[in-house]
Amino acid sequence: MMTNQDSPAVIDEPRRQDLLGLPKAELAEVLAPHIDRPYRTEQIFRALYERGVTQLDSMTELGKGLRERLGTVFTIATPEIATRSVSVDGTVKYLFRLSDGATIETVDIPDGQRRTLCISSQAGCALACRFCVTGYWGGGRNLTAGEIVAQVLTALQGPNFRLEGVNLVFMGMGEPLLNLEALSKALVVLTEKISRRRITVSTAGIIPGIEAMARWTVRPRLAISLHAPDDERRTRIMPINQKYPLADLMRVLRHYPTEPREKITFEYLLIKDLNDAMADADAVVKLIGNLAAKVNLIPLNPDPVLDPEFQTPPNSRVDAFRRRLMGQGLTATIRKRRGDDVSAACGQLRATDREPRGFRRSNLRF
Ligand code: SF4
Repeated sequence: MMTNQDSPAVIDEPRRQDLLGLPKAELAEVLAPHIDRPYRTEQIFRALYERGVTQLDSMTELGKGLRERLGTVFTIATPEIATRSVSVDGTVKYLFRLSDGATIETVDIPDGQRRTLCISSQAGCALACRFCVTGYWGGGRNLTAGEIVAQVLTALQGPNFRLEGVNLVFMGMGEPLLNLEALSKALVVLTEKISRRRITVSTAGIIPGIEAMARWTVRPRLAISLHAPDDERRTRIMPINQKYPLADLMRVLRHYPTEPREKITFEYLLIKDLNDAMADADAVVKLIGNLAAKVNLIPLNPDPVLDPEFQTPPNSRVDAFRRRLMGQGLTATIRKRRGDDVSAACGQLRATDREPRGFRRSNLRF
């Protein structure tokens, strides 16, 4: 099992403890003084994660008296849906307001029989990647395990609520491996119902976090935001590369445990005339070609707050880049743009009622 050294669960007025995000053993521990039979823990866990119940009073398998008693001590802290924006392609973007007023975004992406939720791990991001609107808006606090899990439950609410079969990608707001304890605890809960193979944690390359993940026994898939094949350009668009340069990152990834046929995904944002040359594709192959790896190419999603010099390459260039990688034996895919009409696409999340605190456009120029 993963370790669960999380910070305390959210306490709301009047200091009721959040039941969301508590792994079963911990749930049993906090409930023990308040329940009449040990099997109540299982009933409550199932109500939360098999039926998506978000009100203690709706857990009718518990007696009314027990529900009322539990309601004085515990809560199920789901976020307020501040806005719900629906794209023409069916993608839904939620702006959630948390109990302290912090805002985050979560994206629900339907794709035929598949459904993928893009989950936030922090209310903002301090890493300031130059192509990312979240980074432009600046840092925010870590989410609790309960707040991470609550995004999933809230986005899936409805008569067909079901966790099994849903894909989760931790590619929303924030750097998940800078919120490792809450992430690990949330994953212990979520992997009770969702296969670890359906969950991807994407990182800008936080080496201590990757090393910690390598020790987990239930590991989600790992994705690395690469975006440039050399330190000089990577540092310019991802300042965190100064702290964790490519040579160190690759050394850790070479020892990262993967199951047979499992591959580490490298996300590569294509920015016109910055990192989309055929020589860059060759450099990517040289960098990662000896790993069990695949590349997901993401044509830049433009946004008014980003540097106007950041342009999307033409489709022909994106296709050529992919062919160049494939020609040298690397699996490469092109990410479909989803939800960009409601600013829900990759790199566009901002939680729009926040004031910008991040870098200014004039600082972005090369
Ligand atoms: S791309 Fe990810 S790590 Fe970089 S600023 Fe945006 S949210 Fe943070």
